[in-house]
Amino acid sequence: MKLEIAGAEASQLAARFGTPVYVYDQNRLEERMRQFRQVFSSPLFDCHVAYASKAFCCLAMMQLVQREGLWADAVSGGELYTAMKAGFDMNHILFHGNSKTDAELEMALEAGVGTIVVDNLAEAGRLAFLSTGHPGSRTRTLLRINPGVEAHTHAYIVTADIDSKFGISITRSQEIIETCRILDEAPNLDFAGFHAHIGSQIFEPEAFAAEIYKVTAFTKEFQDHTGLQISCLDLGGGFAARYTDKDSCPPVETVCRRILEAMTEAVKRHGLSVRELIIEPGRSIAAEAGWTLYTVGSIKDTEHRRYVFVDGGMNDNLRPALYQAEYEAVLADRMDEEKSETVTVAGKCCESGDIILRDGRLQPARPGDILAVASTGAYGQSMASNYNKLPVPGTLFVKDGQARWVIRPQDLEDLIRNEEPLPEES
Ligand SMILES: *Cc1c(COP(=O)(O)O)cnc(C)c1O
Repeated sequence: MKLEIAGAEASQLAARFGTPVYVYDQNRLEERMRQFRQVFSSPLFDCHVAYASKAFCCLAMMQLVQREGLWADAVSGGELYTAMKAGFDMNHILFHGNSKTDAELEMALEAGVGTIVVDNLAEAGRLAFLSTGHPGSRTRTLLRINPGVEAHTHAYIVTADIDSKFGISITRSQEIIETCRILDEAPNLDFAGFHAHIGSQIFEPEAFAAEIYKVTAFTKEFQDHTGLQISCLDLGGGFAARYTDKDSCPPVETVCRRILEAMTEAVKRHGLSVRELIIEPGRSIAAEAGWTLYTVGSIKDTEHRRYVFVDGGMNDNLRPALYQAEYEAVLADRMDEEKSETVTVAGKCCESGDIILRDGRLQPARPGDILAVASTGAYGQSMASNYNKLPVPGTLFVKDGQARWVIRPQDLEDLIRNEEPLPEES
């Protein structure tokens, strides 16, 4: 049995396009986007699914996101530029970030970005000032607050991490009020509500309910105190993706239903004027649709380990080194063989932490085999680097058996393209 990705044999893709290579199942990306759109809807609220583009951002992906009717968020001038070049409707962009530069804010205002998510008091002042240079425009703003709920996989903690670098903690309500007043009074800005994001790889729907409970209770107090009406709440992303067998993710439908149920209940209880809800899934859209294909090089035994070396590594997948992320791998043409060996799949970078799979199960590998790592579609390509002067692999989309480049692989010339040699000594 051979691994197929969207109807194409993985080993044939490797033979035709080379390795390492990122391969996305476009059908699966589309299905996932559609699914989010379908289940995140309610008669009570205007519901928007904004794809967190940092998970995987390129022209083709942003086109797909737009086609499927999702919104998107951007966190930098670069992500914004990519969305613009993809023809993305700027009204459907949320511009995020805790450290936006004046140039980025200016770019967002100029581009007509629909919503800017403000992080802090000082930024509100800068944005209010910059927006006066855009008379006639009206940019909607949300303020990022930190509700003191932090989700880590299966656990979540209430009143955690009030010192996070993101947003303003709800324990600092005076500062929040002051910030919102600035946004509300700026002639070209429109203050609409709050944003919160409680973490990543959240398996537990109750974590979102806890977030909603805190955010809506705060919103009620805020409205009573200021008289400002909150019409929009953005609950952030972090919906879990399945990386290995150990991850049993609740269906998207279950999580969205719990979110809408908790919101409905909270809006009634507090008599809130919230009419619009936004969620921002990133990894749960991109991760499982993506594979990385490598070619096996040498196999080396040490006292306690068998290493399987591949032709990529931490420069194309930083997550294991960055946060001990776990993956599963298969040999693409030997799927029907038993995974009878415990091996460590290591990359070619000069770092001991350059591991793709630590003590994972694999079919007995031979040099030249195509090794496919599953669920690498989020934060793989987007975190890629040129460490060790390795070119960033290209990215393929495969739909109904047909493969095409959406990002071409870098070549050696690309690696020195922006470099300037010293002048010759005279
Ligand atoms: C990272 C991030 C997301 C997406 O997180 P995922 O875990 O990929 O779903 C959404 N919103 C904000 C503000 C983020 O920082």
